[in-house]
Amino acid sequence: MKPIEQMQTPDPRNVEHWRADFPILGERVHGRPLVYLDNGATTQKPAAVIYAENAYYRHSNANVHRGVHLLSQRATDSFEAARAKIARFINAQRPEEIVFVRGTTEAINLVAQSYARPQIKPGDEILISAMEHHSNIVPWQLVCEQTGAALKVVPIDDTGALDADAYERLFSERTRLVAMTHLANALGSINPVERIVAGAHARGVPVLLDGAQAIAHLPVDVRAIDCDFYAFSGHKVYGPTGIGVLYARAALLEAMPPWQGGGDMIRSVTFEKTEYNEIPWKFEAGTPNIAGAIALGAALDYVDSIGMEVIAAHENELLAYATDALRVIPGLRFIGTARDKASILSFVLDGVHAHDVGTILDHHGIAVRAGHHCAMPVMQRFGVPATVRASLALYNTHQDIDALIEGLGKVREIFGT
Ligand SMILES: *Cc1c(COP(=O)(O)O)cnc(C)c1O
Repeated sequence: MKPIEQMQTPDPRNVEHWRADFPILGERVHGRPLVYLDNGATTQKPAAVIYAENAYYRHSNANVHRGVHLLSQRATDSFEAARAKIARFINAQRPEEIVFVRGTTEAINLVAQSYARPQIKPGDEILISAMEHHSNIVPWQLVCEQTGAALKVVPIDDTGALDADAYERLFSERTRLVAMTHLANALGSINPVERIVAGAHARGVPVLLDGAQAIAHLPVDVRAIDCDFYAFSGHKVYGPTGIGVLYARAALLEAMPPWQGGGDMIRSVTFEKTEYNEIPWKFEAGTPNIAGAIALGAALDYVDSIGMEVIAAHENELLAYATDALRVIPGLRFIGTARDKASILSFVLDGVHAHDVGTILDHHGIAVRAGHHCAMPVMQRFGVPATVRASLALYNTHQDIDALIEGLGKVREIFGT
């Protein structure tokens, strides 16, 4: 990512325009205007995305890759155009490197079962980090159980940043894959992905990146990063739920066996032998989430219309504002203070359980996450059962942060802390 000074200065007037694109931001919650700060869990959808889903069902609905009739051709064209758009968005070399899946979780499981499992032997090692979401832990634990491989975990320091020396040290002759997050959902730490990939490739080890958070907050260029796999979910980047993406180098996809069997992933079937379809369709058994893929394309168009660097600059400015304002609240401790950080404010308040904070904030119309954020090992690392997490998106404002601070004041009043 470029240094902030080189990015365009965000024009705060634009935020009001952007907000107007998100109908749900007009909702009231417990009689208050909605302050939505749970973007790490899922983002809200602009009208363009809602419209794209709606328009698809009104004008184009048919199954893809099958019919000779007009609607089926329309649906297929739009579905495949969305794939090409996604390839451009992350700078993949070819649309065939984009596999549609349900989300990050399914993408990682696909790589675990179709890439890793068939070639991993007892005693082999898979390298992950201590800041991973359960989606980037459990699929590897399953593969380890299935193959007799071992999971190695790169530690993080007290700020929540990856221990880069330990990363280098943890490689062995038996390391077969590195799987790491690009942007940690419970901490906000940005991993040095280019360095991670270079370190692994120097030893001939491929790298999967969990981009579930990064895709909405950082410019992502899979060729510049040089990763082998990149996974993300549509719903965290202003698109619908139930659609996501696995990017993989074409050569890897070619070599991998299919993941699920069924319609669309075959070229010909007899009871003796089935010939599989070409990539990426070899990995897309069954009727896909056609409307979801098209609407994800619309979401990425929307992001492009503002520009990821403009969004990142806006969110970084808000993150700095919020960090300074929260820092001075007595009894508040941040969990996750890495130097390279984006979009996430995770914290605990002395003497108040995170769930109570979340509930009181909700009564004031403020939506935050309270819990372990599907990253229980991170909570264990920092010795807390749960944190409160406020997570930003392009439509958040200084007023949202001010409301959060006022809400936290109410919490402290109620609990007398
Ligand atoms: C949300 C998230 C996931 C899981 O995404 P799903 O959409 O639930 O599959 C994985 N990793 C990270 C870092 C996340 O934030």
